[in-house]
Amino acid sequence: MIELVDVSLKYNNETTALNHINLKVDDGEFAFIVGSSGAGKSSIIKLLLRERVASAGKVFVNGYDLSKIKRRKIPEFRRSLGVVFQDFRLIPTLNVYDNIAFSLRVTNASNKYIRARVPYILELMGLTEKAKRFPHEISGGEQQRVSLGRALVNDPPLIIADEPTGNVDPELSYEIVELLKGINACGTTILMVTHEHDIVRYFGGRTISIEHGEVVFDDYIGGHDEE
Ligand code: ADP
Ligand code: ADP
Repeated sequence: MIELVDVSLKYNNETTALNHINLKVDDGEFAFIVGSSGAGKSSIIKLLLRERVASAGKVFVNGYDLSKIKRRKIPEFRRSLGVVFQDFRLIPTLNVYDNIAFSLRVTNASNKYIRARVPYILELMGLTEKAKRFPHEISGGEQQRVSLGRALVNDPPLIIADEPTGNVDPELSYEIVELLKGINACGTTILMVTHEHDIVRYFGGRTISIEHGEVVFDDYIGGHDEE
């Protein structure tokens, strides 16, 4: 699903952001990546989305070898995963329904499928009443749920969430992670990057800690229901 083999990343041939990283996340796992600011978390995400190419080592995601992938194959690769960003990245001129439908439209899904699938996702995310609202008319927590719905609508095998709780109220942070946990329980692999240690301690599970561009911890920790 995700595998990094001895991966290093340098910016401008000088700043070493990642230093010999080895990491494997299997099908169906839920893993947190934690680390302080500057640790290298965003750099890992950039490699996994093929926004950057590793300076050394191998990156495999969803069966694609990202060091070898042809430029014309990148859009197809990106459609094989769902991404949730801290800043939501919704399309401001489209309402909630169309923001979610957009992800299906770019895959040439049939109108019939879109008309069945989008209401289902809205319901799942508790957004049915908000379908006709525009992003600026809904709260931050709701915007993050729209972005989660958009990541989900194509039923990708893998969702990468980059600080998905970073711009929502603390109480809503737990709700967002609960939603991700529910999605994971249905079989989707989830990789969630966060600097919020409280959330990781609360939920527990596979936790990969990055410091100074290196994996300093990778193990299972107990969550609240195991205490
Ligand atoms: P995090 O997401 O954990 O805060 P980053 O992956 O953004 O960490 O950064 C890791 C290191 O790489 C830091 O030292 C940061 O200053 C450096 N870095 C990140 N992006 C760039 C860039 N575009 N150019 C140069 N250095 C960068
Ligand atoms: P949350 O449940 O995310 O904390 P808020 O308490 O911010 O939501 O908002 C409560 C309700 O008010 C939400 O259902 C939301 O749709 C609505 N709302 C929030 N912000 C706006 C806005 N700028 N314009 C219109 N409705 C809004």
